[in-house]
Amino acid sequence: MFDVIIQHGLVYDGGGKEPVRCDVGIRRDRIDAVGDLSEAESRLTLSANGGLVCPGFIDAHTHSDAYLLIEPGAPSKLFQGVTTEVTGNCGASCAPLFGAWRMPSDWADKDYPGTWHTVGEYRTLLDSVRPAVNVYMLIGHNTLRGGAMGYENRPPAAGELNDMARWLEQSLDEGGRGLSSGLAYPPGLFAGPEEIQRLARVVAKHGGIYTSHMRSEGRHLIEAISETLHVGATTGVPVQISHLKTSGRAHWHKLDEALALIRQAQADGLRVAADRYPYTASCTDLDILFPDWAEEGGREAILARVRDPAAARKIMDEISADRTAEDWDAIMIGNTAHPDTCRYRGWTLSRTARDLGRSPAETVLHLLDLDALQTGGIFFGMSEENMWRILAEPYVMIGSDASIRAIEGPLSHDHPHPRAYGAHARFLRAALDHKTVSVAEAVRKMTALPAEHFGIRDRGVIATGRFADLVVIDPEALRDQATYAHPHQYATGIRHLLVNGVPTIRDGHPTPHRGGRFLEG
Ligand SMILES: [Zn+2]
Repeated sequence: MFDVIIQHGLVYDGGGKEPVRCDVGIRRDRIDAVGDLSEAESRLTLSANGGLVCPGFIDAHTHSDAYLLIEPGAPSKLFQGVTTEVTGNCGASCAPLFGAWRMPSDWADKDYPGTWHTVGEYRTLLDSVRPAVNVYMLIGHNTLRGGAMGYENRPPAAGELNDMARWLEQSLDEGGRGLSSGLAYPPGLFAGPEEIQRLARVVAKHGGIYTSHMRSEGRHLIEAISETLHVGATTGVPVQISHLKTSGRAHWHKLDEALALIRQAQADGLRVAADRYPYTASCTDLDILFPDWAEEGGREAILARVRDPAAARKIMDEISADRTAEDWDAIMIGNTAHPDTCRYRGWTLSRTARDLGRSPAETVLHLLDLDALQTGGIFFGMSEENMWRILAEPYVMIGSDASIRAIEGPLSHDHPHPRAYGAHARFLRAALDHKTVSVAEAVRKMTALPAEHFGIRDRGVIATGRFADLVVIDPEALRDQATYAHPHQYATGIRHLLVNGVPTIRDGHPTPHRGGRFLEG
């Protein structure tokens, strides 16, 4: 007697093989049989009705750590077929909370069901809210550096670096699986390569992974890739290049060199992979436009510069120096915080500037001033051709680069990038429509590939004995619905979804049951 049988599916194993028409039997939290189960008995039978049956998708790059505590049902991800989230990316994890580190404002301004400092305490809290998805947590370098030495632009003293290493070690002992860096953001951008290498050695010792939002994704892309690969070469740690892209038209031609560098490193024996979301716009804080000097000292110091006429003048001069009208057109206002700035969500910066009767640079500072730095930007700086080339690389997996959202409740009020609701559905849709790699390969990029590279045991593949993280997809109905203008819309086409054998979506509707787990090594 099975607990669940998924009947009449087109089963993709996750490893890239062509699909097989068969049934999948589940006992407790594991897959117990794959084949013809028409004679078998089961407590619950779910019909795939000829649709795709895949291992649950692993979102290789997310920022859901804190939000999982608020919206443990994770609907924006479930409706894309995601069953596991890799959290703590781009240098910022929500634990450990030590010293002078301050959580990003979009995390800090929410209400949580409890408090935590360590990864262990975070896990206890996460268990108590029963997440619907599995969680694989990375430890952020910015989190460690901010904690040890605040937001100062200098190398760490020996004691400070020791603190970072010690906190990292403790966090890995408590279930963290690796280190993420965000070298484009303060305070990570003040760190040199030696600091990262020292910490990566701690990760290597624990059998973990190093992921990096690199120092540059455009102007110094090649140098940044070299720096990232060097961490792997010198420490032996597997490397993940986060959201691989060529950012800014002037740098699109660098893709050949970038891909060649990565392939060479792989040929040299380095375990390096990358993730990417299937969109040509990036999304982050609008003050990413600022020069490095203006990012020193933390939020209060940055805001003081925005509000100081002389410093603001200098920032405006620098950010408009090499930007054309076309460049400003390619920036859209994302999230905002102040009632007077809400109406500009989804507007281009040029249009907003005209509306305000200010220059684009003045507009940037005006919004950041009113929003107290909580202005998001969506940056249309990527080549679509390069995006498809990157997505087709055999080592590139799908990472949404987004945290959980929901169409109602506390995570429904902001203006996120549509990737938060659409990344995985959009990529699989493209494969079904023959716009990218084959469907079997697309599924592999969201399942077996991330499972293998991140060391996620017994997941990412449909086979007897593996965990029953499974998604059943109606290929006709599968579609991302979220747009840049109206992002809060669930993807369609997920018929059933199981996490550790727990039916979490049934016939297109969420069930009250949640089976996600914190994934230890
Ligand atoms: Zn990033």
